[in-house]
Amino acid sequence: MNIHEYQAKELLRAEGVPIPPGEVATSAEQAEAIAKKIGGMVVVKAQVHTGGRGKAGGVKLAKTPAEAKEVAKKILGMQINGLTVHQVLVTSAADIASEAYVGIILDRASKKPVFMVSPAGGIDIEEVAAKTPEKILKLPIDTRYGLQPYQASELGFFLFPDDVKKVRAASKIMTQLYSAFMKHDASLAEINPLVVTPAGEVLALDAKFSVDDNALDRHPDLVKLRDETAEEPSEVDARNSNLTFIKLDGNVGCVVNGAGLAMATMDLVKYYGGEPANFLDIGGSSNPEKVVNALRIITGDPSVKVILFNIFGGITRTDDVANGIVTATKANPLEIPIVIRLTGTNEEIAMKILQENGFSASSDMDEAVKKAVDLATKGGKAA
Ligand code: GDP
Ligand code: MN
Repeated sequence: MNIHEYQAKELLRAEGVPIPPGEVATSAEQAEAIAKKIGGMVVVKAQVHTGGRGKAGGVKLAKTPAEAKEVAKKILGMQINGLTVHQVLVTSAADIASEAYVGIILDRASKKPVFMVSPAGGIDIEEVAAKTPEKILKLPIDTRYGLQPYQASELGFFLFPDDVKKVRAASKIMTQLYSAFMKHDASLAEINPLVVTPAGEVLALDAKFSVDDNALDRHPDLVKLRDETAEEPSEVDARNSNLTFIKLDGNVGCVVNGAGLAMATMDLVKYYGGEPANFLDIGGSSNPEKVVNALRIITGDPSVKVILFNIFGGITRTDDVANGIVTATKANPLEIPIVIRLTGTNEEIAMKILQENGFSASSDMDEAVKKAVDLATKGGKAA
């Protein structure tokens, strides 16, 4: 789960990270009032779950409250990387002498949180990594011991090799960032830019934070920070229907039970030259309602050209799935072909239900996937 910059800043502030004061606004008038309250120069910043807001015109300085209102009016409603801006953060502007990058990601290969820091901040860290990798220091942390003071100093010295005062300030921020990362089960925590002001103060001007979805059960306070208007609508719908769904770019809509079979199905779609439109695991339990929800979500994607069911009945009763297909398509007749493969528990009953309702199904996975890919690429009628 991603959260907004203003929310990430609250989490970091709670750890003691120095961050200029600011508040979030949903209207230009509100932005003006906040600017008045803060006083002096402010920055108005689009709150969307994407980077590169600066380049896209979503981060603007304003000298007066009236200007803040004007700028907010322009930014609210703006599209950045396909996302609509519903909120802006109005925050006190800082003078910038230099910009650095500080981030922690969960590295699955080393199974550790890894610090990444660079004195070349402000811009895309991917660009720095590609062009000048020597400007990035990566430091894996052993979670049994946590971030050690000598490591925090090492990170600080990499950013400010000739200024011990700044090293101290930066090291403290590293410790605070690590604490926030661990405390909230984050998969990513990033400050970019971490700036030095002309007066030598070290401040966090931007913050990005992702929380591991699997850990949300133990963070009811973080769940409240979820902004569904900022997320992919089909993924929101799927989550609320208790389905594990990830939208992809292809045109073969996949409905599968079990994550492993879902992965294998996507592999096979690729093998036959197709592209999956999604990953979808309807889970192990038998619940016709899940099938209804799954079909609604998949058919809501206009790029889907065919629906492929691949069900292996173990705990899942295939007759329940068949009933789900019948119920869903009766309520909302399909406009695209559907290919059904099911095998396992109550297979004979399922086949009978499908046949009686005008569907054909096979028990062969290869055959079904190949047929679905053919239909998606060449077009064709439902069998
Ligand atoms: P991003 O583009 O989405 O990463 O948004 P950022 O919050 O990082 O802002 C982009 C850039 O705007 C920063 O790298 C800064 O150069 C600039 N910026 C952000 N806040 C301030 C500020 O308080 N003062 C000044 N002068 N520039 C700022
Ligand atoms: Mn940034």
